[in-house]
Amino acid sequence: MKRVTHNKKGGVKTRMAPSPTGKLHIGGLRTALYNYLFAKQKGGEFWLRIEDTDRTRFVPGATEEIFAMLKWAGLKWDGDPAVQSKRLEIYQKYAPELIKSGQAYYCFCTSEELEKMRGEQQAKKMAPKYDGRCRHLPTAKIKQKLSKNLPHVIRLKVPENKTVEFDDGVYGKIKYNSDDVDDQVLLKSDGYPTYHLAVVVDDHEMGVTHVLRGEEWLPSTPKHILLYQAFGWQPPIYCHLPNILGANKKKLSKREGDASAEDFKNKGYLPEALINYIALLGWNPGTKQEIFSMEELVKQFDIKKLHKSGAIFDLKKLDNINGQYIRKLKSKELINFCRPYLTEVYGDALQNYSDEYVASVVTLEQERLKKLSDITASTQLFFTDNLEYDAKLLIWKKSDKTAMSDNLTIIKQKLADMGEWDKPNLEKEILQFIKDKKLTNGEALWPLRVALSGQENSPGPFEIAAILGKQESLRRIKAAVDKL
Ligand code: GLU
Repeated sequence: MKRVTHNKKGGVKTRMAPSPTGKLHIGGLRTALYNYLFAKQKGGEFWLRIEDTDRTRFVPGATEEIFAMLKWAGLKWDGDPAVQSKRLEIYQKYAPELIKSGQAYYCFCTSEELEKMRGEQQAKKMAPKYDGRCRHLPTAKIKQKLSKNLPHVIRLKVPENKTVEFDDGVYGKIKYNSDDVDDQVLLKSDGYPTYHLAVVVDDHEMGVTHVLRGEEWLPSTPKHILLYQAFGWQPPIYCHLPNILGANKKKLSKREGDASAEDFKNKGYLPEALINYIALLGWNPGTKQEIFSMEELVKQFDIKKLHKSGAIFDLKKLDNINGQYIRKLKSKELINFCRPYLTEVYGDALQNYSDEYVASVVTLEQERLKKLSDITASTQLFFTDNLEYDAKLLIWKKSDKTAMSDNLTIIKQKLADMGEWDKPNLEKEILQFIKDKKLTNGEALWPLRVALSGQENSPGPFEIAAILGKQESLRRIKAAVDKL
């Protein structure tokens, strides 16, 4: 069979073909990524195609959102995206060609007839399948029905008892018997193509050489192969990608809230980190390397190393990778990324704090952040003038209220006398002071840290005090003493 290729350059061409039925799922982003990586690595092209022929599932705005997410993720596509609903004449031209060559037929069955057929098959415990009753309609009858404008579809005349074979890049040799393949509808009565016709015509017309797509499309592939054969075209190479699984080992579904790429973006995962992580969901470099830039992925990604079994989505690992990317950010970038989250929580109150102050808070947290949105929970103590906590929290282990109150009082005095107010100086002077007063670090620093933070866990007291400044630090310590 000759490859009738419309891919003029003759190189590798991949595509991602999302249906605009909702947000871009994390699995869809991985499909796009793998297609992108493979194309770029071969010096080829990565295209987009919007598969919007199922008008009942069309969600307005979804296409634009998918584009925006792909851009955010750094997956630049070549050319202008093809949109199936704008290509109806193309499918309407191809389907009748198969009728002419005797490989498709008009079907005039009404939905009532089809329903009845299905019911009878179910009663006999048979798999539902179109029984081919319109296959052999006499030409005169067909002409008559067409002239009466009776609603009809075009179905593929699937050959009987034929082995349909293809080599999947991930799953290896796959064989089906054509008797298990339905006489699928190609063109619907409203003139719209079905997914099967559109995907084959478009992949052919666009000159797509490799199709990397979700494993849920594996059972449709024999239908596509049969269609390629009917047209006399060379099919692309298929690689079906195993599902991404949730912790329950079930397919991570769109309904599981967090599964859309946009949710990850909103929570403050950096695009480079998300891409890095999902590249590893189903592919393994075979080395210990865990952090990959896009350029490294393009170089190292290997289609032959794709896994056959589903990859479990490991949020901890993603957090860890994201944390590593966050730590690499320049402090200006980090501040810009964090500001929207802070504004969302603190609103106008944020304007009471200088840029410098916000910058030092954010930079202090850089080490600990797993995702940008964490910035709000961990920095509350810096954006309030009323810490709420239980006085008991101030008490170090077996110590008591009086001792804590005394320790805080003398430390407060020491701090009030201090000149240079920065972390190294605070640390040096206070540690020396504790030594001189023969206190342990626990009984002095614990209440100090709680007085400044109001929290059981927080950054160290010197870091907090340095950011809060002298006045606010002293005020908080006084409030703690009053509490005790
Ligand atoms: N439109 C299909 C989807 O939404 C694409 C299937 C394919 O890549 O062939 O997943």
